[in-house]
Amino acid sequence: MLKAVIFDLDHTLFDRHGTLRAIVPALRRAFRVNPEMSDEEIGAVWCYADDRYVYDGWSYILAYLKEKGVFVSPPEYPDYRSFIYREFARVAVPFDHTLPMLEGLKRSGLLVGLVTNGQHALQYAKLALTGLEYVFDEIVVSGDVGLEKPDREIFFYACEKLGIEPAEAVYVGDNRRNDIDGAAGAGMRTVWLKSTNPGQTGRYEPDAVIADLRELPEALKQFGIRNSELLYRNVF
Ligand SMILES: [Mg+2]
Repeated sequence: MLKAVIFDLDHTLFDRHGTLRAIVPALRRAFRVNPEMSDEEIGAVWCYADDRYVYDGWSYILAYLKEKGVFVSPPEYPDYRSFIYREFARVAVPFDHTLPMLEGLKRSGLLVGLVTNGQHALQYAKLALTGLEYVFDEIVVSGDVGLEKPDREIFFYACEKLGIEPAEAVYVGDNRRNDIDGAAGAGMRTVWLKSTNPGQTGRYEPDAVIADLRELPEALKQFGIRNSELLYRNVF
């Protein structure tokens, strides 16, 4: 019987692309940005670079922006990094359905958790700005615990905090390696949100694949929920 649903944050509950697009005007104010490029063009380049290099680090993203001619005079990396920290603490765009869905899962008697890679200040700023700070039963941020997805230990740690066994939890995320392989390796069931990396493959096949988080209640039914009709009614 399923007892908990544990989520990834970026791209799963938090609209990272929407947030990057929303801070393009601030990028223009902070640095000398190419006036020939529209906000839409810069947003598209930035989202692409973020998807491609987010696990390599922001210096790679900055290098790609430079290569694509986004800047007239490129910022130094420490200035770019400070800018990102400042803006992500100011602007965070959630998906519209995120909060009602999490609240619905809780009303259905499921525990709701978060396991996210990142630093404490940045991840908690996103949670506060998106109104998600208080909805989770447990929040595990990699920077706080010295463990990082896909290490299965971080998933064990989250289950222990929730007081459940890994087999009683399903993990939902958009990245095959960090989310699906990590959680499946820990013995959890998995739902892959096939949104940002649709071509990605991994060691483990996910138990369910969804294109939008709104499909989650239907996908959860297969894991054995005490009252799946109640779950569906409660979530949407
Ligand atoms: Mg993610």
